[in-house]
Amino acid sequence: MTRSRAPVVLKFGGASLEDAAQVAREVAAVRQDGTPVVVVASARQGVTDLLTETLAHPRSKAVHQHALEELRRRHPGLPPNGRRQLDRIRRLLAEVEAVGGHDPPLSDRLLSEGERLAVHWLSARLVEEGIPAVPVEADHLGLITDNTYGASLILFDRSQTAVRRGLGRRLARGEVPVVTGYFGRSLEGRVATLGRGGSDYAAAAIGALLGASRVELVKRHVAVLSADPHEVADARPIPELSYEEAEELAQFGARVLHPLTIEPARAQSVVLRVRSLDDPRVVTTIGPAQSGRRNRALTMLRPLRLIRLRVPGGRQRPGIVAEVSQRLSAAGVNLVQLYTSSALLCLVLEPPQVVTAIRALAPVTREAAAMVEGPYPVTLVIAIGDGILDDLDRVPSAAVSGAEGFSATPRALSIAVPEARGPDVLRILHQALVSEDRR
Ligand code: ASP
Ligand code: MG
Repeated sequence: MTRSRAPVVLKFGGASLEDAAQVAREVAAVRQDGTPVVVVASARQGVTDLLTETLAHPRSKAVHQHALEELRRRHPGLPPNGRRQLDRIRRLLAEVEAVGGHDPPLSDRLLSEGERLAVHWLSARLVEEGIPAVPVEADHLGLITDNTYGASLILFDRSQTAVRRGLGRRLARGEVPVVTGYFGRSLEGRVATLGRGGSDYAAAAIGALLGASRVELVKRHVAVLSADPHEVADARPIPELSYEEAEELAQFGARVLHPLTIEPARAQSVVLRVRSLDDPRVVTTIGPAQSGRRNRALTMLRPLRLIRLRVPGGRQRPGIVAEVSQRLSAAGVNLVQLYTSSALLCLVLEPPQVVTAIRALAPVTREAAAMVEGPYPVTLVIAIGDGILDDLDRVPSAAVSGAEGFSATPRALSIAVPEARGPDVLRILHQALVSEDRR
């Protein structure tokens, strides 16, 4: 496949699937000059929530019955395949009732049904609109993942041949494959979901595997902004981001992007475009970094807890940081952020993990005579942008005074402030780094 004939991947989120005729127009517009198109679809809006709800009430026949009726109502005009699927969902729900508890592979099988319904429903609608669409289920296609049910990782080497061959064959026939997002097939051959919001990740992965020229993440009304507009009134759209900036933004909790979406695109130099169906002017293009460009985006993570670990003699104890992080990860504790100086380690954690963390650190506190202080409720305010260290002189003292921690890389500044101060600090930093942009 040469680059000019390289396909474009169009991923439609749940809300952007509302109007199938509009989806058809989007697909037709890209195909107009002969560019092959692969569509990746999420479940229709609210469907994954509905399925999640049935899992939260594994024994409730009433909840399950309601979910089935809703699923049927939200996918009018399903072709026979899709109708068979509703029967399968009924059987899966009966299995969930029989198991009555936590069963990650069974949950993933059920959760995957939202995307399966979506691709059968959407393909039928697209065909009515004159688009030669064919539904493709990613597990059957051969999108292979590891065995981490509920949060699995796509395995590129294992997927490449089957995905290229399977989709390439359909594209060569002039068809438009409509592929399920959100899940693949695990190494042991079962359905494995990629985590909530995982259809973006699936779309980026498929684009990378196919050598697509770009992957468009089409949302109904979502934009990548310089801050959450509920917190900062003059937040503004960001037209271009580097892969690295977008990755930091996604990792630090900007909910527009699934955190794993960026890497596959970056590795294969596939341009990502996030755009809003409601407003064609709202587009963010994610690609290689460009010198001279200045982007600044702010995010806020909360509620969080900070624990201080004072290690007498600090640096005289080589390996202390490794030991602390190993003990935490062995206990299943996820370190959101770590600030260190010589004798002080500040650990930022999710509130429910604090007790486990302190328990896991007991051997360190005994052997190294370290002292634990806290937990202190904090909010992390993060400023992201390539070359952000150049902006240190613009950070107002009001943003850092009284902070519990501060760290900086060439791409992100992170400040842990007392919990209630988060929104103020966010606004102060936005004013200084975005609104008062001198250049
Ligand atoms: N349907 C899944 C979810 O709602 C995946 C996605 O939308 O990306 O999380
Ligand atoms: Mg969804």
